[in-house]
Amino acid sequence: MAAPHIPVPPGVSEADFADAVRQWKDIVGEPWVFTDEESVALYRDGYSPFWDEAEERVASAAIAPDATEQVQAIMRIAHEKRIPIYPISTGRNLGYGGSAPVLSGSVVLDLKRMNRVLEVSERNAYALVEPGVSYFDLYNTIEERGLKVWIDPPDPGWGSVVGNALDGGGGWTAYPFRDHFGAHCGMEVVLANGDLVRTGMGAISNSKTWQQNRWGYGPWVDGLFRQSNMGVVTKMGFHLMPRPDAYISGTATVQNEQDIVPLLDTLNLLENQHVVNGSTSIGAGGGPGGGAGGPRWTCTVPIYGPASVIRAQLDYAKAKFAQIPGSGWSETPLMTIPLTSEQMASVRQVSFAKPNLSTFSIGARSAFNPNPTSGHIWFSPIVPRTGEAMIEFYRFYQESLAEVTGGENLNFLGPIGLTNWERSLILMIMFPVTRDKAMNAKNVAAFRRWVELAGQRGWGEYRTAPAFMDDVAGTYDFNNHALRRLHETIKDGVDPNGIISAGRYGIWPKHIREA
Ligand SMILES: Cc1cc2nc3c(=O)[nH]c(=O)nc-3n(C[C@H](O)[C@H](O)[C@H](O)COP(=O)(O)OP(=O)(O)OC[C@H]3O[C@@H](n4cnc5c(N)ncnc54)[C@H](O)[C@@H]3O)c2cc1C
Repeated sequence: MAAPHIPVPPGVSEADFADAVRQWKDIVGEPWVFTDEESVALYRDGYSPFWDEAEERVASAAIAPDATEQVQAIMRIAHEKRIPIYPISTGRNLGYGGSAPVLSGSVVLDLKRMNRVLEVSERNAYALVEPGVSYFDLYNTIEERGLKVWIDPPDPGWGSVVGNALDGGGGWTAYPFRDHFGAHCGMEVVLANGDLVRTGMGAISNSKTWQQNRWGYGPWVDGLFRQSNMGVVTKMGFHLMPRPDAYISGTATVQNEQDIVPLLDTLNLLENQHVVNGSTSIGAGGGPGGGAGGPRWTCTVPIYGPASVIRAQLDYAKAKFAQIPGSGWSETPLMTIPLTSEQMASVRQVSFAKPNLSTFSIGARSAFNPNPTSGHIWFSPIVPRTGEAMIEFYRFYQESLAEVTGGENLNFLGPIGLTNWERSLILMIMFPVTRDKAMNAKNVAAFRRWVELAGQRGWGEYRTAPAFMDDVAGTYDFNNHALRRLHETIKDGVDPNGIISAGRYGIWPKHIREA
């Protein structure tokens, strides 16, 4: 069965939809409303585990406005006619839904054309951007103007600074900048009925400090627009890192399985003291006692800052790791920033604020990999950041593997321990997505089962693909799903006709919940 083509959104009459399309064309211009099957197919999710199947989530149409006033006018019509809308910024959310809506038949509101970098302040280290601004765009603007501030790119540089942050994405330079939602400061949001809100200090007309003080006055509402469906974000501010003078990195090694306990405790101390600010990593190798060669665990701690200061910070980190019996240590030479082009060619560029697309070479077709996958989805629960939890997760993985996979080799990769989110430990298992429907079905079932089993232990996913949004939301079940009930109450209040991104992160509007 092929992916369904949906000419009219669910619950909307043909006449109402035709009327809305006509009015939208008046607002944005005829060429920017897409209703033909070929154009709408461009919004399919190439990483969907339901590719070409009835469950694949597809749009009915798309609109690409160029200004906030156009977004407001579009939303007023959608609100009046109860047409489901799915806003995207650059729509490159591969692994988490691409540019396809969660509710099939929604109209994609494509904000790519709103791609103005509205302000970059070197002096106060912030930027204000529209949703269509990609990491490449912001990087190029800063380079052209010769400003000494860094952006924090995720691995794929073509995504949206706004869209990535709204989906809970992250990058690879220093904390706190690599937590993209955490580093934002101020938003402009179009609500379902077309009303326009600015958050934080932006709520003062003619505000002078919108990108400087995040909290503003009164209840802070920005979190309502993260991983949610409460509004359409049309501007967002971000704190930038002043370009650091230098970079240095050290790696501690330990030999025994149980050494992961003091290794993670030491890492936690160094990060919580803000001695280490770079994106750290934990490596698993060898066997217990390093029997299979090499250390059992490694921990890499990069540091950004002034040369003399980071030298002292790394020496402190080295001394702390040296307290673990039998541990080893190595370090990279200190690098002065900006790097030369030769240096830049030899490093992971996103760690030096340079966006690129090299991540897509991993797993691509090559002489060694003649049958690449069509994409990936990630099972990535957050577990306590302790060595005991890490060992428990590996045991959990081994013990549940046969049940979850039915004893078959489903080709997934991992678990990999990730420490790039401060104070969190993520144990990621990478599931392949292929064009083999039977294999995809087995992987989807395995993923769902692991979400459930992890949830029973108190471990939850921090971000997920549309196929699993309801499953993951179901694990956040304290007090009979009190958080979901609160989300629904807020949703019903700010979007009473339930038109924005129905189903995103497990939040469904009232009429769909009741149906
Ligand atoms: C190989 C590979 C590596 C990756 N590495 C990383 C990584 O290092 N870090 C990382 O974070 N991600 C990573 N990703 C995931 C993903 O590709 C990126 O997060 C990407 O930036 C998201 O796409 P986007 O920026 O175009 O966001 P969009 O697709 O535009 O937005 C994401 C979602 O947010 C919502 N949204 C977007 N804009 C708005 C708006 N204006 N108003 C309301 N709601 C909105 C929508 O629901 C949308 O679907 C990786 C993916 C792959 C395949």
